[in-house]
Amino acid sequence: MAITNNSNLQSAKTIDDVLDVVKTYINQKQSIDLIKKAYEIALKQHEGQFRKSGEPYVQHPIEVAYILATLNAGPATIAAGLVHDVIEDTKMTPAQMAEILGNDVLSIVDGVTKISKLKYMTADKALATNHQKILLAMSKDIRVVLVKLVDRLHNMRTLQYHNNPDKQYRIAKETLDLYAPLAHRLGMYRLKAELEDLSLKFMSKKEYDEISSAIAMKKSEREDDIALMIDLINKMLASHDVKDYDIKGRIKNIYSIYKKIITKNKTMDDIYDLLALRIIVNSIEDCYRVLGLIHGEWTPLPLRFKDYIAVPKPNLYQSLHTTIVGPNGRIFEIQIRTFDMDAIAEYGIAAHWAYKEGAGYSPEKEQIEITNKLKWYKDLSTYVEMTNDNDKDPLDNIIEDIFDANVYVFTPRGDVIDLPAGSMPLDFAYRIHSRIGETTVGAIVNGKIVPLSYKLKTGDVVDIKTSKNSAGPTKEWLKNAKTSHAKHKIKAFVNKQKRDETIERGRVEFERYAKNVNYDVKQLDDKKVKELFGRNNISTIEELYYEMGKMNYTAQSVFNRLTGVTSNLMADEIALMQYSEENAIKKKASRPRVNNYGVVIDGLEQAHLKLANCCQPIYGDRIYGYISKGYGIVIHRDGCPNLNKDDENRYINVSWDKEFKGRVFDTTLKISAIDKRNLVAEIINSINTNQVTITSVTSTKSKSGECITKVKLQVSNIEDLNHVIVSIGKISEIYNIERVFK
Ligand code: MN
Repeated sequence: MAITNNSNLQSAKTIDDVLDVVKTYINQKQSIDLIKKAYEIALKQHEGQFRKSGEPYVQHPIEVAYILATLNAGPATIAAGLVHDVIEDTKMTPAQMAEILGNDVLSIVDGVTKISKLKYMTADKALATNHQKILLAMSKDIRVVLVKLVDRLHNMRTLQYHNNPDKQYRIAKETLDLYAPLAHRLGMYRLKAELEDLSLKFMSKKEYDEISSAIAMKKSEREDDIALMIDLINKMLASHDVKDYDIKGRIKNIYSIYKKIITKNKTMDDIYDLLALRIIVNSIEDCYRVLGLIHGEWTPLPLRFKDYIAVPKPNLYQSLHTTIVGPNGRIFEIQIRTFDMDAIAEYGIAAHWAYKEGAGYSPEKEQIEITNKLKWYKDLSTYVEMTNDNDKDPLDNIIEDIFDANVYVFTPRGDVIDLPAGSMPLDFAYRIHSRIGETTVGAIVNGKIVPLSYKLKTGDVVDIKTSKNSAGPTKEWLKNAKTSHAKHKIKAFVNKQKRDETIERGRVEFERYAKNVNYDVKQLDDKKVKELFGRNNISTIEELYYEMGKMNYTAQSVFNRLTGVTSNLMADEIALMQYSEENAIKKKASRPRVNNYGVVIDGLEQAHLKLANCCQPIYGDRIYGYISKGYGIVIHRDGCPNLNKDDENRYINVSWDKEFKGRVFDTTLKISAIDKRNLVAEIINSINTNQVTITSVTSTKSKSGECITKVKLQVSNIEDLNHVIVSIGKISEIYNIERVFK
């Protein structure tokens, strides 16, 4: 297992090179055939395509497969590596691929393709961290992440062929922010180090060159010191009968030196004067034994000893670290670990699941095994901060916390929104903006209409349909919200609306009473209210109307107190009791009569009314009554420009009768779209999936390719209309739908 760093010196690999490596650990004919079939597909599908380097495109997937083979990946992973760009870049369909290579390979390729489509905003560090989580969450299958990392590695190795420096920089930065930390999370040190060094090369060429030449210059000097130390250790271990060990000089990658120079303000000499050695032994006992021998021979620096065997690092790295003063006073950093620990340190998860061929092998089994191993790679960084509540495996907590407790969904533009698990479209809508939440009429997830009770899943693309005419949140909405944010907003809206309505009821009640007794309501102001009702915690007119609307005071009792007729609390209470009784009888006797529009008008039973032609209110709209001079009461919907706001005396409270059924309302939609063939037919089709009647359709096209379609409809209520709007909104060329005011 080795990823070689000097990629530029490597010659192009062939499929035979791949198979040579593969055959060192895979022998089953079936497995070899799968890889060969994948190669044939890659060769055929990428024919005629070329890389920026001028090589045939197929060279790229071959290199990817080769690296995967050096990591001892399984046959499906290597096959997927060979065809990883086929779905995205060629005409082959997923179904065709599955037919030849099977669903297991397809699912890996699918995952890789999906990840490639994510839009990374690497300018933001927090987002990049977030994206790592998303990337892991989206590809529950570790093999997807592995193929993607290796794909990126080869692209970075050939990045010099990109002739656009801006693009080189952007790709390098994305690699540094996203892929290198991901490799780190998986404990794949080698891969991480190479990704980092290559990124630095394209982001800060000067520093990269300086550090690499400094390393080269000091090389021979350092090598002498290291050789001497290795010799001394060899002799010491031999005399104490330690067998089958290995000693290596350590490689520090260029980027880690660069980071130390930048962040710790060190010079190259400070860092590189440290000599580093690694001793690899057979057993954990040997680790501690060798440590004891070394500390017996050379003086350890205080506070530099770390036991990562007893307390492994979050990414399960295990090793003993010590720093000693060696021969000639040179300082040595020494790591001592077992061969297993070393493989994990270098190759991370790859070392854990290196493909093992056997009779019992099945892709499902491999999947389960890998999933078990995911346990420890899932958000390793939080592991450190875990508190020890002993009921649960802390790793289980992490998994819940990071992967199950959150879903990551996308806006249609590709922005990422993370929400707690169990979140629904309204949670998403409110997260974007309260206004979006309040005007939500429907949701489309992955192109399909879903109910508002739909539970969002990671990877979902969520498109919220809003309408200016939405009646707004109701108490029912609370059932379809999970986040406290959305719930809070919905409650606040409902309460405010209820309060507004209550205040309005109180006002109407009082004004009617005042008119009867010839009391000028203008005499009433906040000051007076406070003076008379302050002891009841009422200090504004609004609050007073609110209390009246709740029927805590009758108009008469308020009037009495205002005019000083009776001004003690007893009178209020008596009045209230009388009122309640009276009211109960009244209510039974005369329910407000409903006209054939379904509109209820407070206090007016036989009113002459009509629905305004200008705004065509339909059942469920927020409406106002307007006392017109000629026609009686005209019902307008909220927002109608013809409502003359100055003329407040002419407004009257109206509402829809809750039980009304049995007529349809005319309404007109204006639909703006980019012109395309059959657009009108598509609109009509999608309307027809709802049970409404179309009475007319007109369509006009502008020279700029804009198409305006007006559809006249008959609907029973606002809900039906909202369904229609959501259905039409699914047509991707449509960018605006609105109800028309005449
Ligand atoms: Mn690729």
